[in-house]
Amino acid sequence: MVSENQTIVLEDLKVSGMVKNRKLARVISQQGWREFRALVEAKTEKYERNFVVINRWEPTSQVCSDCGYKWGKIDLSVRSVLCLGCGTEHDRDQNASVNIEKVGIGHCHDYKCTSRQSKTISVASVNVSVSEAGRS
Ligand SMILES: [Zn+2]
Repeated sequence: MVSENQTIVLEDLKVSGMVKNRKLARVISQQGWREFRALVEAKTEKYERNFVVINRWEPTSQVCSDCGYKWGKIDLSVRSVLCLGCGTEHDRDQNASVNIEKVGIGHCHDYKCTSRQSKTISVASVNVSVSEAGRS
């Protein structure tokens, strides 16, 4: 993932809230997600890629990634959304990942980011305890 992409954008989600959901708790191991983030961060440094973590308050699952229409909060059980603004049907996670990429790239002022030499991957991920100091 890191070697094939110039920029990796992660979303800083709130794990403690998500693991209250029984189904999710089974799937999400906080340790695993923290580990994943640490690994991605180390690899992006090694390969000199851009690593961006976006704020958990960005409404990435509440906005159409095509037209920007805001449909607001939707229950986690809703997996696809038909946009009232443009009529596009979105997979919930795919739409969120496009929004994560938009926000992440928008936050990156490095020239390497704006030249976009290679594709960008967005991954929704989680971490509560790693300090965000120095990142914006
Ligand atoms: Zn739309």
